[in-house]
Amino acid sequence: MTTTGKRWMMSAIGQPLLQHSFELTAPAAGEATVEIAGCGVCHTDLGYYYDGVRTNHALPLALGHEISGRVVAAGSGAESWLGRAVIIPAVIPCGQCDLCRRGKGTICPNQKMPGNDIQGGFATHITVPTQGLCVVDESRLKQAGLSLADVAVVADAVTTPYQAVIQAGVRPGNLVVVNGVGGVGGYCAQIATALGATVVAIDVDPTKLASIAAVRGAAKTINAREVEPREMKRVVGAFATERGLSSKEWIIFECSGTAAGQQTAFGLLVHGATLAVVGFTMDKVEIRLSNLMAFHARALGNWGCVPELYPAALDLVLDGRIQLRDFVEQHPLDSINQVFEDVHARRLSRRAVLIP
Ligand SMILES: [Zn+2]
Ligand SMILES: [Zn+2]
Repeated sequence: MTTTGKRWMMSAIGQPLLQHSFELTAPAAGEATVEIAGCGVCHTDLGYYYDGVRTNHALPLALGHEISGRVVAAGSGAESWLGRAVIIPAVIPCGQCDLCRRGKGTICPNQKMPGNDIQGGFATHITVPTQGLCVVDESRLKQAGLSLADVAVVADAVTTPYQAVIQAGVRPGNLVVVNGVGGVGGYCAQIATALGATVVAIDVDPTKLASIAAVRGAAKTINAREVEPREMKRVVGAFATERGLSSKEWIIFECSGTAAGQQTAFGLLVHGATLAVVGFTMDKVEIRLSNLMAFHARALGNWGCVPELYPAALDLVLDGRIQLRDFVEQHPLDSINQVFEDVHARRLSRRAVLIP
């Protein structure tokens, strides 16, 4: 094993990320060092980098929390992980506390998020607790025509909507609306479809709508620029009628992470609806919260995904029920500054995965 690693570190808001070398020390008990295969670029990273959202760990810090790779060193008690291909959860709970024991690891007070609480994945190596690591079956990976780097996006872009879909109780026969089908929302639509729901995808970008339709991730697509906000509920309702689906109990996933998108999603509440907020924005919206009461509806949120759900989410990918290929593109880690700019300017239509 090499003795030095490299990471690209953020030192201040908007300042170029700089490469630093660091010494690879032996992992502590219960920890493993992972040689990184790929790390996805998430809008949360851009929030830290461009918008001044504070990281819990002081700067300088390597960002990046969508990580896959191979265990190359293991501390005591973690030896069985050596050599394994793994996905590192974006939120690593402690696994010991009362909340973790009750399956609520996403709100574990001792959780560690790479690129926020600890050094992140825009690096050659990372050392993490083995708690919650998700094993990747490499023969199935090969059969699916995917590389270990490709499945880095399972660590957030796939599992975060997976947790949202499971939490919302999506089942066959449901009408699901996904607002915003780039990245996370695209996987949300595919997951809901895989679980038997009929999905309506809404976006302002016709390319993204075409991509999600092409992989059969949505039964209907709506360009939000072509439908008046107050007309949106009627258009979805007409589709529900056409498909013989209920006009009640819609499950709505807000994945755009924009104020306008949140308005649209809230405006789709029907009786017994579930609204799941998956996308994030600092912006505020004006809504009549009492509509939740009037419609006997509920609103949900989730911070990442508990590690317990990762294997099932990965299964959908390895079985080909979620298409990753058309939604991921690889770039060298050395081009991180350019890739950040391109993602920020929305010049990339696929999720960028940086390869050390
Ligand atoms: Zn993320
Ligand atoms: Zn815990």
